[in-house]
Amino acid sequence: MRIGIDIDGVVADTFHLLVNELNIFFSRDIQPRNVTSYDLREVYGIDAKQLEKFATASKIKLTDAPEPVPGALKCIDRLKNNAKVFFISARPQDLYTRTETWLKKHKLDWDRLILLGRHDKADTCVKLQLDVLVEDNLQNALQVSDRDITVLLLDAPYNQGPLPSLVQRCRSWEEICTHIHVTSKV
Ligand SMILES: [Mg+2]
Repeated sequence: MRIGIDIDGVVADTFHLLVNELNIFFSRDIQPRNVTSYDLREVYGIDAKQLEKFATASKIKLTDAPEPVPGALKCIDRLKNNAKVFFISARPQDLYTRTETWLKKHKLDWDRLILLGRHDKADTCVKLQLDVLVEDNLQNALQVSDRDITVLLLDAPYNQGPLPSLVQRCRSWEEICTHIHVTSKV
């Protein structure tokens, strides 16, 4: 079995750290549950330039400091026994070493780490012949499932909406692990 796994919002809990850092930077008090759009300009009422300034200032912290998403490490460790694991992230290439350091710090094991520098993952998932992608970005989930690959969408306030049959909403990593285990017997 070949499994693709996104990093931010899936393995690394970048989301809660991000909201916290945004609140400090823009002097706001927005709760994570109220971040219902992937577009942070919309949520914070800021323009692209302000968001870019924040992103540049926070890039290192958001890469180095997130906690793991609960249940992720245990499940990936279990999957790795019988499956190929590919971490596929939209992070830019210049964060490769820092990303690798974070994954190693949390004792994760993987077959390939791919940083695309853009959100569109569909071609990469097809090339890697994935059986399943674990993702939190709704747009990515829809694009990848359009190419006949099953997507397990980790539930978040910003990824609500109707899903096609190949996308399964999972509320936790325990649910993800059970789903993969039942489907593939790994
Ligand atoms: Mg993500």
